[in-house]
Amino acid sequence: MSHVFPRHCHAQLPTAVGGDGCYLIDSTGKRYFDASGGAAVSCLGHSNERVRQAIKDQVDRLAFAHTGFFTSDPAEELADLLIANAPEGIERVYFVSGGSEAVEAAIKLARQYYLEVGQPERRHLIARRQSYHGNTLGALAAGGNAWRRAQFDPLLIGVSHIAPCYEYAERAEGESLAGYGRRAADELEAEILRLGPETVMAFIAEPVVGATLGAVPAVEGYFARIREICDKYGVLLILDEVMCGMGRTGHLFACTGEGVRPDIVTIAKGLGAGYQPVGAMLCSGAIYDAIASGSGFFQHGHTYIGHPVATAAGLAVVREMLERDLPARVRALEPVMERELRKAFGQHPNVGDIRGRGLFWGVELVADRDGKEPYDPAKGVAGKLKKAAMAQGLICYPMPGTRDGRNGDHVLLAPPFVMAEEDAGLIAQRLAAAL
Ligand code: PMP
Repeated sequence: MSHVFPRHCHAQLPTAVGGDGCYLIDSTGKRYFDASGGAAVSCLGHSNERVRQAIKDQVDRLAFAHTGFFTSDPAEELADLLIANAPEGIERVYFVSGGSEAVEAAIKLARQYYLEVGQPERRHLIARRQSYHGNTLGALAAGGNAWRRAQFDPLLIGVSHIAPCYEYAERAEGESLAGYGRRAADELEAEILRLGPETVMAFIAEPVVGATLGAVPAVEGYFARIREICDKYGVLLILDEVMCGMGRTGHLFACTGEGVRPDIVTIAKGLGAGYQPVGAMLCSGAIYDAIASGSGFFQHGHTYIGHPVATAAGLAVVREMLERDLPARVRALEPVMERELRKAFGQHPNVGDIRGRGLFWGVELVADRDGKEPYDPAKGVAGKLKKAAMAQGLICYPMPGTRDGRNGDHVLLAPPFVMAEEDAGLIAQRLAAAL
């Protein structure tokens, strides 16, 4: 009997024993093309020599030094490199061990910022329905997936949720896409006014929605309007790039490609590329300065923040990404993925939508293509497709319907940036066979 506590208690999972480029290998020797990189994690594939060597060298040199006593070379160098390539105004990096921790740090930083600048009433966070920002209690409270939240209510922080903004969402009769984007963003202003601007600290959203909905970019103009509204009311804009960041959409920071400037941005998954658990919360110089010139102490931290081996891995990942200009490669592969997915699924009776950016794609599964009727969530269609795809030697990430609104089951594709062009066809064919 296994003594591991698996998340899905009754799942019979193969044992992974090796990784080779885009492939994972199980104990029977079966090879799986990792078309989702776990969940948008393994951006460099599974056997990157530079990252493996950097980890070994760092363990040999220094494995751990608590950040209460020391800084370390890899943490300093990685912070320098991230800031040199960060969105305008972002000046500081706070290292953590993963995405949920990065979101927790972002929420607490927003709260502490407004305490330090003498606006203690600003404690309310606004997020979007159907969103996912992590699974620790604060990050879960931020997320707007009703099903995930339900059994933990009441959650710890004051959060309200506005509608998300998706290109494929139903628009009002005769409404232009730009008009819809503006109307969706204006919901933020209405919510700020409803709560009272003096009580709102921040708004959080993914620039390209990954978790829950499967690679959905916002409508053009939406984020420009969101930025205007945040500026007008002094609401901090937190962009969660845990999934869509680190080159996944064709830019090191997704918000750069989407044309929006954050006050705080979170990254994780692709930063460690699966080699080490590492994430980061980055913030503007103004926010950092308020803390530094105020209490001088950020009231947040964990034992493993800024871990030398984790940051050494992150440093090797970002160097590899920039020196090989992998974001440009991702941009070049975008139309190839789109073409292959449309070829395989464009007319499929149970595919409602195919959308994405870069190497970040979502395939929506529907009971009927024309009416876009979602499957009954109880059927677990995305989970079944994941299983069938594994039988075909393909890893795709299942996203069950949110059980909230019309958003039904999806699978997410987020293959390694180092995949060959022909691999786009292989992914589409294996997924089609599974479907
Ligand atoms: N934010 C987003 C947008 C995510 O996709 C995820 C993970 N799916 C998280 C936060 C949480 O990250 P982690 O699982 O590393 O805690």
